[in-house]
Amino acid sequence: MDGCLFCKIARKEIPSAIVYEDDTLVAFKDISPQAPVHLLIIPKAHCEGLGDLTPETAAAAARIPQVAALIAREQGTLSGGWRLLSNCGPDSGQTVYHLHFHLLGGKPLGGRLCQ
Ligand code: AMP
Ligand code: ZN
Repeated sequence: MDGCLFCKIARKEIPSAIVYEDDTLVAFKDISPQAPVHLLIIPKAHCEGLGDLTPETAAAAARIPQVAALIAREQGTLSGGWRLLSNCGPDSGQTVYHLHFHLLGGKPLGGRLCQ
């Protein structure tokens, strides 16, 4: 989608630190990491979030937990623990409206999911 930051990253029109890529998904380092491991996993095809899935993005998104576990293992966080989450809409604090999952790990992440 024209003008979408993460579409541009998926198309490699702007630089990012990609750690994983396959036919339908890309994972790259968050530009403002909140933990030693902070990656974003996105479908290459555009949709705004989990409330806007299309058949194409739903099929890609369904693979994200398995791919996240693979990446967590590669990043050395599988045994220590990690978190996978997606912000959807204004109350969640979503700032980029292209579906993405945060993969966080590498330190104790705390138990609070909201404040
Ligand atoms: P959210 O607030 O859930 O929409 O998450 C958006 C995330 O995208 C934030 O954690 C930002 O730090 C991250 N972000 C924004 N721009 C970039 C970029 N160019 N490369 C990598 N991560 C980015
Ligand atoms: Zn997009």
